[in-house]
Amino acid sequence: MRQTDYSRLAWLGGPLALDLANTLPLARPDTPLDLISTEEQLSAWLHRQAYRLPVPPPGLARFHGFRRLRDALFRAFAAVTSGEQLPREIVGALNSVSNRTPAQPRLLVLPDGLQVEYRGANPVDIALALVAASGVRLLGSGLNDLRRCPAPGCGLFFLGTPRRRWCSDACGARARSARHYARVAGGGPEH
Ligand SMILES: [Zn+2]
Repeated sequence: MRQTDYSRLAWLGGPLALDLANTLPLARPDTPLDLISTEEQLSAWLHRQAYRLPVPPPGLARFHGFRRLRDALFRAFAAVTSGEQLPREIVGALNSVSNRTPAQPRLLVLPDGLQVEYRGANPVDIALALVAASGVRLLGSGLNDLRRCPAPGCGLFFLGTPRRRWCSDACGARARSARHYARVAGGGPEH
């Protein structure tokens, strides 16, 4: 499989939990490519997040841990953005990952510069706990800003504002032109 070019993914850089959920093909119907289907892809995603997340060494625990957490986050965000109740087992799964370690980092001043120290059980659990905690905070914070992009072919989760209805300008333009085309094709009045 070809290496995913994460530098071209404009949506990366949102809250950690959204960045992880959005790597599922289900979140991007128009580009149905699993962005974390291999260890290498997961490594690439983690390195893009290295400014806010420790990068644990590769291994089955890391790979399966991230994929399981991603599924739970996706199901949680999909439920709340469509007005459904959050399944209890999803709440339990997110809490148990989030509680695995006290993930508050510490700033260290070393001779060769500043460094972040994460305290906790092991690097995989620390990384998973930070992403799960990001999801827990989003889900528990009122949800008004959490949206799913309604543009045709898109389904990305993002944080909206009253004036931001789509995940990106490109999706806004596509949605407007699709509406325009539907009106013209249907012979309906322009308004
Ligand atoms: Zn979109």
